[in-house]
Order: sequence, then C-alpha cells, then structure tokens
Amino acid sequence: MSQSNFRRETLAVHAGWRADPSTGSVAVPIHQTTSYQFRDADHAAALFSLQEMGNIYTRIMNPTTDVLEKRVAALEGGVAALAVASGQAASAYAVQNLARAGDNIVSSTALYGGTWNLFANTLREQGIEVRFVDPADPEAFARATDDRTRAYYAETLPNPKLEVFPIAPVAAIGRKLGIPLIMDNTAAPLLCRPLEHGAAIVVYSATKYLGGHGTSIGGVIVDGGNFDWEQFPERQPALNTPDASYHGAVWTQAVKPLGPVAYIIRARVILLRDLGAALSPFNAFQIIQGIETAHLRMERHCANAQKVADFLAARKGVSRVIHPSQQTGTARDRADQYLSGGYGGLVGFELDGGVDAGRRFINALKLFYHVANIGDARSLAIHPASTTHSQLSPQEQESTGVSPGYVRLSIGIEHIEDILADLDAALTAAGA
Ligand code: PLP
Repeated sequence: MSQSNFRRETLAVHAGWRADPSTGSVAVPIHQTTSYQFRDADHAAALFSLQEMGNIYTRIMNPTTDVLEKRVAALEGGVAALAVASGQAASAYAVQNLARAGDNIVSSTALYGGTWNLFANTLREQGIEVRFVDPADPEAFARATDDRTRAYYAETLPNPKLEVFPIAPVAAIGRKLGIPLIMDNTAAPLLCRPLEHGAAIVVYSATKYLGGHGTSIGGVIVDGGNFDWEQFPERQPALNTPDASYHGAVWTQAVKPLGPVAYIIRARVILLRDLGAALSPFNAFQIIQGIETAHLRMERHCANAQKVADFLAARKGVSRVIHPSQQTGTARDRADQYLSGGYGGLVGFELDGGVDAGRRFINALKLFYHVANIGDARSLAIHPASTTHSQLSPQEQESTGVSPGYVRLSIGIEHIEDILADLDAALTAAGA
C-alpha cells in the first residue's frame, strides 16, 4: 500500500515504518548503537564512497533516526530529511550547507531569539553575513539580495509577533534568482506545509510540538526536492563545484541516481560528519512517539489558544492580545492563507501595568509552568524581554516584536476551564 496518498494524520502515525523485519516489532526500535558491522571489505568501501547507501556510524545515520527523518519528510511533502541534535543545529546547518565565508543570506527580522543570536553574531563571526529585513514587505528580500546571497530565511508563525510570513511571494522572488527559501515551521506543524507554497527547505525545532512533551531536544531539516540547484551553478557553488573533502564530488551530479536530494545529502555527509550535532537514537524515538499524536495535540492547542485569546481580549487590564485571530488586514489574510486547522498554540499579551504587572502575573501562575519552551502538552508562560530575548539589544528586541511588558503563553492541552481559571487568578494577582 503506497503511503504517498495518505493524509497528514495517517502519515503522522505510519510514515517511514512498518514493523521490524527481523523481530516483528511494531513500535520503532531504539537502535542504541554507535556503529554497524560491514558485510565485508567491499561493502565497507562501497558505503564510504556513497556507491551504496547504508549505515556506517551513528554520528551520520541511525535506523531509529531514519524513521524520524522519513516521517517528517512525508508530513512536509519533502523528499528526504536530516535529523540533528537541536533546532539550533538545524537552523545553522540549513544555512551553512549553502553559504560560506564571504556569502550572505537574507532573513526576516521576526525570529526566535536564539536564531537571531546565531545569525547576528555567530554566523557573522564565521564570515556569513545575515541581512535582516522586515517580513511585512516581501520585496525587501529582493532589495537586500546581491550576487553572494545564497538563501532566504524566515519562520512561518514567528513568536512573539505571531504574524504569519508571506511564504509564496518571497519564495517566488528567490526562485527567479536561484535562491531557496528556508522556512522554520516549528510553531506550525500540520497547520502549514511551507513546501506547498514554494519554500525549498523546512527546518524544525522538534523539541516543541513535534516531540510535544517537553522531554527531548532535537531538530530536523527537510529537503523539498523542488529546487533546481543545477540551474544556478554560480549562485549555489556549494552544491555545484567539486567538494575537496569528498574526492571532488559535485553534489548535484554525485547523488543524481538517488533523486533530487543533493542538498540534504551534503548536509549529512559534510556538516553532520564534520560538525557532529547528531541526534541520540533515544531522542529520535521520543520525537517519533510525539509525532504520532501531534495532529490531535495541535487541534487542542489551537482550540484552547483561541479561547485564551478571546478571554484575554475581553479582560480589562489587558492592553493588547497578540494572536492571529486578533489581527486584521494583510497579517490576518496571511494567517488565513497559510494556516489551516487553527492559528497555533501561542498567545501573547501585554498588561496595562507593564513590566511589573507582567512579573506579578508570572509569579502568580499555578497551573502554567514558567519555562523557556513552547509546544509542550502543558501550558507554559514566560516574559521574553528578561529571558529568551534578553541577549538582544532594546532595538533588536523591538524588531523581533518583544516589548518590555510582553508575556508569552504556550497553551497546552489541559481542560480549557482549568487554563482560564489559572489565568484569571494570576491576572487578578497582577492587578488586572
Ligand atoms: N526555532 C524556533 C522557532 C524556536 O522556538 C526554537 C527554540 O525555542 C528553535 C528554533 C531552537 O530549537 P532548539 O531549542 O531545539 O535548539
């Protein structure tokens, strides 16, 4: 039975796996091994030279992780994926796989604080310039592009602003120039498939909604297989010129028999090989477990978040509610165009009382956990300006959408009345 016609809910449970051929195990086994016995010397040589694909060493591939990769690729409608040790590693590799010292990428300003730091500081120190542009205007990406621009980068539902990114127009601008759009879809799995709107690469922090239970850090890069790297040899030298570290392999040519997977193979055999942010097989297993119920959880996250947004909007003492349902005009149109099944599980708000009221609110929460995470089954809250975004300057905080009094909620899957009761009591304690 071909899996390609299955809907997302079915893919979430089945893609990439059907019982272990040697034991019959239905659950995906945890292959807690570093290495794999080669059949003989010829087999080993064929694997190392990529003439044959197969397991060599768990830093580069693992059978448990392989199921996770196939499952996320299927969910996104991509051709292949690479799982890595964290969402941060996924973002870094996604860019480093194309851009070298002297190159640049153009990124939306609406980013998770950790990605902002990676782009504004660490990649810059490595010689890769990241040009930040306001995502409200797709043409800003074209204006910031030059001959050394190798990729565009953005988040689908960026927190904290929660204004959905204009995927199709930016992807279209890039495609004319040979520039792929990399989308971080961490906050909108199952609600949005960026590849269907023209993105070429999708990255995830699997730590969040995919894993869904706050147990395991992980990241995934998905190759859409929908970008013609070969058509743009000068724009994309990393995939079109001989790779000295692999006997001069030109990736677009070397892996052609395997399909349109040059990008993801290079990420695996060069970046994962050399930089080594490998996902542990145990975490891969945990994330697979999470994915099997992700569609059910996303439904509940979205329904609960919608009710929380409505509750906060009606509450005096709350000066602003940040949630796509509260938006109007272009921002709302984009949310409706790109998200289906709900507006996600994140809600932001500001209190009339500013920073002090925000702190009192956080301290008074009883059900919500006060943590630096999103996408857990549990409800979570944080004050970004003093935590996740505290390493950014006030101007940088402003451009990512973090005002001093902003409180971010990641709404869990508990009963909505219990969630609202906790919010109500904490708001009262904060004087709202
Ligand atoms: N991308 C987004 C949108 C995130 O929210 C996060 C983490 O909060 C990351 C990437 C980084 O992921 P990780 O914490 O798994 O490294």
